Amino acid sequence: MTPPDYARLEADLREQLGPRGVSGDIRQREKASVDGARMSPIIAELLPLGVADLVAFPTTAEEIAAVVGIAAAHGVPITPRGKGTGNYGQAIPMSGGLVLDMSRARTIVEVGDGFVTADAGAVMNALEQAARATGQQLWMYPSTVHSTLGGFLSGGSGGTGTIAHGANHMGFVAALDVVTPASGGTLVHLDGEAAQAYVHNYGTAGIIARATVRLEPLQDWRGLYASFPDFAGSLSVLRTLGRLTPAPRLVSADTVHVTAQLPPDDAFPAGRSSLRMIADPAVVAEATAIIEAAGGRVEDVREGPQASPALSVLSYNHPIEWLQKSEPGVYFHVEVSGDALVDRIDEVHAVYPGSYLHIEAGHTVPIGMLAGVYESPAAVYAGIAELGELGVGVHNPHQWNVDFRLHETVDLARTTDPQGLLNPGKLNPAYDGPVKGAIR
Ligand code: FAD
Repeated sequence: MTPPDYARLEADLREQLGPRGVSGDIRQREKASVDGARMSPIIAELLPLGVADLVAFPTTAEEIAAVVGIAAAHGVPITPRGKGTGNYGQAIPMSGGLVLDMSRARTIVEVGDGFVTADAGAVMNALEQAARATGQQLWMYPSTVHSTLGGFLSGGSGGTGTIAHGANHMGFVAALDVVTPASGGTLVHLDGEAAQAYVHNYGTAGIIARATVRLEPLQDWRGLYASFPDFAGSLSVLRTLGRLTPAPRLVSADTVHVTAQLPPDDAFPAGRSSLRMIADPAVVAEATAIIEAAGGRVEDVREGPQASPALSVLSYNHPIEWLQKSEPGVYFHVEVSGDALVDRIDEVHAVYPGSYLHIEAGHTVPIGMLAGVYESPAAVYAGIAELGELGVGVHNPHQWNVDFRLHETVDLARTTDPQGLLNPGKLNPAYDGPVKGAIR
């Protein structure tokens, strides 16, 4: 096969996007070739895993489609990118080629009754604000509130709102406008289950250029900050609080040590385990009674538009990121789930000596991030096996293979991307790790 002619590709992209819409500058190319993969010491040791030859910056869904059409005609690999906050290398262009940076395509097209439609680069907290202005709120958004809609749907799995609505965006996505090499630069509109096939697979079957996601009526959220003398106290109420009605948007808890690494706040008293909750006003009194009966105390209850996002940015991977920042080079993490996180916490912590669990209430069972002291890949993997024996579900964030509906995506991509141009390196039919959401 003849190697791609990048000078021709750059000229074609410039004609489509104008001079500011494409860059071959090495600083831009390097910046577009890393994501949050440094959270994994195992992946960090392998970096750089690839560098883009060119970066394109479309500003609308139609331009995204045109760029895909042009790059596919040149036979060039295309790696989609939102804000690059994914934390296991999913946005790294492992075969070089074109990085399709969609962060400038951020138009919010329509906020309707129960839905918002926006271009792929729209930022999650901008969507939440647009929804608020109409008396609505997003079903869910990630703790990386500044990340993009397309990136969240393609690389993320949940966050604030997951207690009520579950993970992996099931039901969240109403419709997508997708572009693929096979569609030749034309947007394809997909509704319902047909759209779901393009979710959480890192753009390997198609690029999301525009999306419609669900909204629900706005709740006047309270940020409830509680603390306990120890982590066992926080754990003892986490599931009960998560099951209150109306469902909280978030219930997060940290060990005493991780609480001490969070940004300073009077609501995080020294030497105590923090439990934080985005609660409907109707359950604040009941939650307070549950917390106090278990030996905890409520430090503060905050209201206003910031009550929800202020706690979201301290949820999911963020406390682990704060831990890694305060003790650089010490910790790795694995993503864990299951009742064993609460019921067998001492055994869970013993798997990696010196480890700390950050925990979320979850939809059906608790979800967590277990941070351990990094020794070697072998020690990390031995621990993953031990966690499985304890009944803990583990997602391994030290690999970048699509591991959600893998075989369905492989089948779909055969049609939509027969040359394998989309995000090469991520869709491996031979991947033999655990696969989530598989239909067969
Ligand atoms: P990127 O990182 O740019 O891309 C993510 C993946 O999607 C990549 O494979 C990329 O190639 C692909 N992609 C990007 N845009 C498109 C598109 N338009 N079409 C097709 N493919 C595309 N995730 C959660 O789900 N919940 C959390 O609460 C959460 N918390 C996090 C906390 C921290 C500290 C960190 C580092 C990460 C966290 N993440 C979380 C992971 C990540 O931040 C989110 O999933 C985020 O929404 C990804 O958006 P992004 O714009 O940064 O996407």
